[in-house]
Amino acid sequence: MRSVTILGATGSVGTSTLDLIERAGGAYDVLALTANCDVDGLAAAAKRVSAKFAVVADESRLPALREALSGSGVKAAGGADAVCEAARMGADWTMAAIVGTAGLKPVMAAIEGGGTIALANKESLVSAGEVVTRAVAECGATLLPVDSEHNAIFQCFESDNADKVSRIILTASGGPFRERTLDAMRGITPEQAVAHPNWSMGAKISVDSATLMNKGLELIEAFHLFPVAAEQLDVIVHRQSVIHSMVEYADGSVLAQLGSPDMRVPIAYTLAWPQRMETPCQRLDLARIGRLDFEAPDYDRFPCLRLAREALTAGGTRPAVLNAANEVAVAAFLARRIGFLEIAAIVSDTLERYDPAAPETLDQLLAIDAEARCIAGERVKDCVI
Ligand code: NDP
Repeated sequence: MRSVTILGATGSVGTSTLDLIERAGGAYDVLALTANCDVDGLAAAAKRVSAKFAVVADESRLPALREALSGSGVKAAGGADAVCEAARMGADWTMAAIVGTAGLKPVMAAIEGGGTIALANKESLVSAGEVVTRAVAECGATLLPVDSEHNAIFQCFESDNADKVSRIILTASGGPFRERTLDAMRGITPEQAVAHPNWSMGAKISVDSATLMNKGLELIEAFHLFPVAAEQLDVIVHRQSVIHSMVEYADGSVLAQLGSPDMRVPIAYTLAWPQRMETPCQRLDLARIGRLDFEAPDYDRFPCLRLAREALTAGGTRPAVLNAANEVAVAAFLARRIGFLEIAAIVSDTLERYDPAAPETLDQLLAIDAEARCIAGERVKDCVI
């Protein structure tokens, strides 16, 4: 029986993962589940799947977790270090589904455990791509992409023909504001921004999808996951989210992976890999869908995509600064402290103000992340909404 751990078990990806595990009826031995503060969701899930450990990152919630788990046999722990300890316990398969750079240390801890890491937490690769991929190689761990685009590329990428890959084409739904003018984006509310037309996701990634920063982060993620140059990574807007991404080869062949927009498909792929498993996901009905549309992305109306592409091209610490500033700006937008268009402005200003040298260690990188957050945070204070 394979042991599994889910980091971020109460989130959108975490609950989809739990759904697959519960449907598999005892085929997996659940080692640990973690959350930030959702004690009720965590305790309920831990009891349902008979997890050995349940961990809340917010230590002030530990007494509540202990109470919720009393008599269940599930051990409770609290604090960011406890999340890392849970990640390091050596599960055969770990779902990394914490949102944001908060997931980086737990991802590194899971990599040290040496098992298979199903990576949804794209921010850790964007911020610390070199550090993460080096650790994967050194620890003999296996990194499998969960993000639907990267999972699609992984399924289409012929490793034996890596030098014959001419292009990787990431598809983007275009988000809820695909057709809006910049002017019409001014008054967008958090509720409108998180209402994604095709996918049901957590708040942060939904806003990233609305600004197209998500696609920019994915360009950087793809750069670290696949052996291609930055110029070989393309984005195409495909509003139906049926084709999840494509790989083009030197002979002109383009391989694509298609499926319903349901995260349980890529999650199941990583859970069963290198085999496949049944899922309850809706099958594609192409006759009903009727048509697939494509258009070039608009870098003027969606400046976050341009900023991310520039950060990818420049390399060094640019992606880490971009990512940190974006996390601060999105949190401020969700808290109604800044407007939608200010997300890109804050990221751009932070990149202009802060250009540190490339870090050599994880701690140096985390210090850069912290400084970029301070600078972006100061910029948020200047905004009047
Ligand atoms: P959610 O916001 O739905 O869930 C986030 C999870 O992380 C929750 O379990 C949350 O706990 C936990 N968490 C939040 N902050 C911390 C912290 N500081 N320390 C420890 N745990 C924390 O996010 P999603 O599931 O939407 O996304 C998770 C990751 O997967 C993101 O990186 C996202 O970009 C990526 N992803 C998501 C997709 C999706 O369809 N949702 C698709 C592709 C990638 P609590 O509930 O207690 O707050």
